[in-house]
Amino acid sequence: MGLYSIRMRGAEGGPHEEGGRHISGAERIVNECELESVASSLIHRALHHSKGKSDFINIRIDAVSDNDITYVDCLDIEEHTTKSVESSHELAKEILQSVVSHKAVENSFIELEKLPDNMRGAILMDAQTGVRLDANHLRGVRVSHMDASGAENRSMNVHMREALVLATKVQSCPGIVGELCWSDDPDYTVGYVACNGIYHRIPNMKEIGNPIGGRVFFVDTNRPIREIVDYLEHTTVLVRW
Ligand code: AMP
Repeated sequence: MGLYSIRMRGAEGGPHEEGGRHISGAERIVNECELESVASSLIHRALHHSKGKSDFINIRIDAVSDNDITYVDCLDIEEHTTKSVESSHELAKEILQSVVSHKAVENSFIELEKLPDNMRGAILMDAQTGVRLDANHLRGVRVSHMDASGAENRSMNVHMREALVLATKVQSCPGIVGELCWSDDPDYTVGYVACNGIYHRIPNMKEIGNPIGGRVFFVDTNRPIREIVDYLEHTTVLVRW
């Protein structure tokens, strides 16, 4: 049976392209027989999100050819415990320093902490110099065309499932050595660092109620940025659990 990519984005105050505020976005790659039920669960998410109720919902469905799919193994998960935002950030910085310069680690936190509003995508940062490489600083780079394949034999919430799939695709991109993330969902304060094949799940990455989140992808390569962005935005990746 054929596979389909299904992507949803919802906004309040009209479509995104007409200035609407982004509420929710999600995507899956599923069998034809799952399309209808997945579409209805994506609509539910756009309508019932802690950030608000979408009055614009766009759903796009495209068939995917099996030849165009890259399969990658899921990152290993390490769960950490911390007591405060400060100790979480210290831990995240320590982990990142195995792949990223001190300067780049510091700059990534500075960039995320000064965001006036949520970006749609992620910041791309040079892992040595800490300089931003993404062309559009308001939008960043938006990773798309990914999902997990096969039965999940672990129980995890939808946040973590999506973050793990995204982080696995990002780490499978040649030239990317690490990622830092915390959510823009005001109720969800767990974040993560991904590097060296491990997804480090870290609680207390921000204060509860803070509606701003973000992601930084660290690049360490001479590979053209255009090729990295093309992989992140367009290559269809299915993560094997
Ligand atoms: P979330 O974990 O969905 O709350 O997202 C946290 C932040 O990560 C968002 O505010 C965006 O800046 C960024 N982000 C969310 N989805 C993506 C994506 N598909 N690709 C790149 N960055 C993303």
